[in-house]
Amino acid sequence: MSNLEALYQEVILDHNRKPRNFREMENADRRIEGRNPLCGDEITLWVKLDGDTVADVSFKSTGCAVSKSSASLMTSSVKGKTVDETLALFDRFHQMITGKLADGEREKMGSLAALGGVARFPIRVKCASLAWHALRSAVQGGGQEVSTEHEGPPQTEGA
Ligand code: ZN
Repeated sequence: MSNLEALYQEVILDHNRKPRNFREMENADRRIEGRNPLCGDEITLWVKLDGDTVADVSFKSTGCAVSKSSASLMTSSVKGKTVDETLALFDRFHQMITGKLADGEREKMGSLAALGGVARFPIRVKCASLAWHALRSAVQGGGQEVSTEHEGPPQTEGA
């Protein structure tokens, strides 16, 4: 394992041990349940919007380290972003975890880059994307539940 991969691994373990924004939210505008039946990951996501800005986001989840750390990193990354910026970031994140980012682009993803190694483990892609699917559903005002059940690699959509 390279030094960089070791660092990424440490980021994931840290966010799994001490997930950020891991709490219920009073007065949230949106509350979404998400699940990944393949792995047994379940998440509840709360989002507070201020106009078209993600003013606050929090979650609670049970499941594997990848799903929990991804949710933690996601909440840390999108707070204060507009809905459009959030959706664009989701697209780039999804490209990263499915191995579609160009060389050198992963390093520009900030702390989210820690999850780039998931691209080598297709079964983990759904774990890493669960929180993001819930987030997208939340900011787009969609249904109250999302599931990765019908999402299977290879994933070509932005959906
Ligand atoms: Zn999982």
